[in-house]
Amino acid sequence: MNRNNNYFYSKFINLIYKIGEKMNIKKRVYTFGNKKAEGRTDMKNLLGGKGANLAEMNLVGIPVPPGFTITTEVCTEYNQKGKKEVIKLLKDEVNIGIEYIENVIGTKFGDKENPCLVSVRSGARVSMPGMMDTVLNLGLNDEVVEGIAKKTNNERLAWDSYRRFVQMYGDVVLGMKPASKEDIDPFEEIMESVKEKKGIKEDTEFSVDDLKDLVIKFKKAVKDVTGHDFPVDPWEQLWGAIIAVFDSWETERAIYYRKINGIPGDWGTAVNVQAMVFGNMGEDSATGVAFTRDAGTGEELFNGEYLINAQGEDVVAGTRTPQQITKEGSIRWAKLAIVSESERSEKYPSLEETMPEVYKELFETQKKLELHYKDMQDLEFTIQNKKLWLLQTRNGKRTGAAMVKIAMDMLDENLIDEKTSLLRVEPNRLDELLHPVFDEEAMENANVIAKGLPASPGAATGQIVFFADDAEKWSLDKKEVVLVRIETSPEDLKGMHVANGILTARGGMTSHAAVVARGMGKCCVSGAGSVKINYKTPTLTADGKVFKEGDWISLNGSTGEVYEGKIDTIDPKLSGNFDKLMKLTDKYAKMLVRTNADTPHDSQVARNFGAQGIGLCRTEHMFFEGDRIKAMREMILADDETGRRKALEKLLPIQRQDFEGIFEAMHDLPVTVRLLDPPLHEFVPHEEENQKDMADEMGVSVEEIKRKVENLAEFNPMLGHRGCRLGNTYPEITEMQARAIIEAALNLKEKGIKAVPEIMIPLTGSEKEYRMQEDIVRRIANTVFTERNDKIEYLVGTMIEIPRATLVADKIAETAEFFSFGTNDLTQMTFGYSRDDAGTFLPIYIEKGILKNDPFEVLDQTGVGQLVKIGIERGRSTNPKLKVGICGEHGGEPSSVEFFYSAGMNYVSCSPFRVPIARLAAAHAAIKED
Ligand code: ADP
Ligand code: MG
Ligand code: MG
Repeated sequence: MNRNNNYFYSKFINLIYKIGEKMNIKKRVYTFGNKKAEGRTDMKNLLGGKGANLAEMNLVGIPVPPGFTITTEVCTEYNQKGKKEVIKLLKDEVNIGIEYIENVIGTKFGDKENPCLVSVRSGARVSMPGMMDTVLNLGLNDEVVEGIAKKTNNERLAWDSYRRFVQMYGDVVLGMKPASKEDIDPFEEIMESVKEKKGIKEDTEFSVDDLKDLVIKFKKAVKDVTGHDFPVDPWEQLWGAIIAVFDSWETERAIYYRKINGIPGDWGTAVNVQAMVFGNMGEDSATGVAFTRDAGTGEELFNGEYLINAQGEDVVAGTRTPQQITKEGSIRWAKLAIVSESERSEKYPSLEETMPEVYKELFETQKKLELHYKDMQDLEFTIQNKKLWLLQTRNGKRTGAAMVKIAMDMLDENLIDEKTSLLRVEPNRLDELLHPVFDEEAMENANVIAKGLPASPGAATGQIVFFADDAEKWSLDKKEVVLVRIETSPEDLKGMHVANGILTARGGMTSHAAVVARGMGKCCVSGAGSVKINYKTPTLTADGKVFKEGDWISLNGSTGEVYEGKIDTIDPKLSGNFDKLMKLTDKYAKMLVRTNADTPHDSQVARNFGAQGIGLCRTEHMFFEGDRIKAMREMILADDETGRRKALEKLLPIQRQDFEGIFEAMHDLPVTVRLLDPPLHEFVPHEEENQKDMADEMGVSVEEIKRKVENLAEFNPMLGHRGCRLGNTYPEITEMQARAIIEAALNLKEKGIKAVPEIMIPLTGSEKEYRMQEDIVRRIANTVFTERNDKIEYLVGTMIEIPRATLVADKIAETAEFFSFGTNDLTQMTFGYSRDDAGTFLPIYIEKGILKNDPFEVLDQTGVGQLVKIGIERGRSTNPKLKVGICGEHGGEPSSVEFFYSAGMNYVSCSPFRVPIARLAAAHAAIKED
């Protein structure tokens, strides 16, 4: 169709919709039951997840109580038009829906002799906490209850259902459920008092008279609280519940959940109305939940829990101890719960033992469901008089480890293909496999004392130390420590290295602590603004409690939570499935993944995780170890070029050796070395004692040193004398570093090891700035080649991290051989947010919805992303062969990785422990593109 045709076609469709709307021929209700359904599983947007799968289960021939689904669109209509109008729009179709149910099971809604009871269930596209709880047994009143009792010949069932109904309806529809968990539910309070009076413990012990008594008391409570009688008309009850589901879409809890999960408000929720089946009909009835595989480990092991003579959520409510479905599971459970075999088989037998026939049917059904959906299912079922009914199925939530195992197993079983298996694993969830986690049992009594940013994932526990050198000393004594600092600086590196975890009160996701910890794969919580740290006393105050040096605390770097006390952690174990998954990513990913590493050790770790080179090797970290800092300080504090050259002479062999180590670890793969970047004052001594040392070393007075240090101080160091501005004002620094790199590569060549250096100029803003540095590098390289009468291949390029550089990228790329986007600084300068100070307002911005994410964590595609695209486009316009990568923290964040791929980058570079995540994200990007 040409453009014109298209235009008229869409106009036409629009018109039809409008006429349809006027004539009210829009379909708002979809029925299901008796192995027939108007909906399907791929209609989740319209029917919600629950409704779509209830329909689908019918189509697959699985027994599901009949019912109907009111579409999510009606929820949106409700929000626009209000209650009256929507009931008018729905009335006829809901009548038909109820008739449909009545016909399938041969009962009548509201009838006194042969009544039909229903449940009313919410169900959005994705399962969402904060939505209305299900109301069961709707349609009961003082007369209908007698009808049920007579018809089932089971008075207890009738009254048990009635008291549950009044309670649920009162709680969720009439709004009597207390807002916080600490407050008491008025109905629970009444039940407790009756139990106490009767001397009974469990709900199942109530007599029929007790239940009747409860209903009277419940209804009185309703009247007392709401001022109205409990509604007796089943139709009034039904509309009340339907409207309550729609209302729950706009509750504070639901809105908050949508905001943090990026769910649009206009999705709406569906409402499911379904005939009741009764798990509380006696000893041959039950209700339960099950998983087709183990959600914790991923093992192919059908498992779940059930309760005899119970209804709805009893299994998860925790009032009775649920029993295991399979015998194997039951025996495993008994071991953990320290229950003897005789007690187990008597008090807590499995479904496999109590109802072997039904168990067999359930087993077959779960197999069928898994084969049909080709994914692990989480299902809910009820057994009424030994007849099995399925009430829900959905793809089950699982741990990161289970995600990997199930994906790889299903690939083996030929249930899914390679691409699907890759897409089944969420890249970020791989973190769980690579870092320690808290022991689940130990977590039970854990108490959160503060919350900061989840700066580097994993779990850590240890004794508090406040100073990096104490961390070193304590760890020599074999103590486990957590380093607690207001913020960290390069001087703290060693202490950070030996600590189990790092907690800082200040700093964001790209603060020194966060970046370094991620590089080390070490747990870190940064920017925990509510904790007070006092180095003098020294103490940490959090949640009104004071913690001293040596006290235990625990950190969860994946959530940002800080706990008091010691919580045991479990080390990760990588399985063969992980390797298999990683191999598969290489088959599909089209973009390479490199790592940010400054030491041979980190390089090796990253290489083991599959890094295909180093995208960022920061040279400044090398200057802090041992005596090196002295030579470095001497260079910075020197009076003139001669003085600087003298100090640089001392640094040259040290740097060269460092590069040899890194190049060797990364042999045959490219290593991008960034020339000196940070402001010089970061290196100079600020403490009196160190200043004295330095004065002695250089043979000058302490005053002289102090004056120089003061001279170096800057108002805004991030925008000050740093990056290539250093090399352009002190060319001898660039000369030394270029020499160290080229000589290191030549030395390795002599040993038969291939080094592939890529020399990177930091913080370029104009082409002249870049070209002066490039000229120095190339001149020195040629000098060394002549001196040694030998050569190696190398590249010269630049970081693109100043907004201006993206705009003049065409000029820079005329000679630059590669670009590496430094998205940390680029984000900082594009937004004008200081990386180190953003912690004070970013969380509030996110809470208020001004920002969706921390832009230092998730690339701002609309703003910063545009600059990235412009930079690549313009760069390649003058240099089509320009190699492009990214070395900011975003290189390991899945959604950003997909963006970089679509922008045409050759590689992303990220911290070593994020390499697997980036590889998987790169594979996802390529698969989704097809
Ligand atoms: P949630 O979304 O919280 O899982 P559901 O709508 O699935 O809520 O309802 C919770 C439980 O209520 C179900 O697992 C099931 O045990 C019970 N239930 C819901 N509808 C019915 C029904 N028609 N007959 C029997 N039990 C039901
Ligand atoms: Mg459910
Ligand atoms: Mg930078």
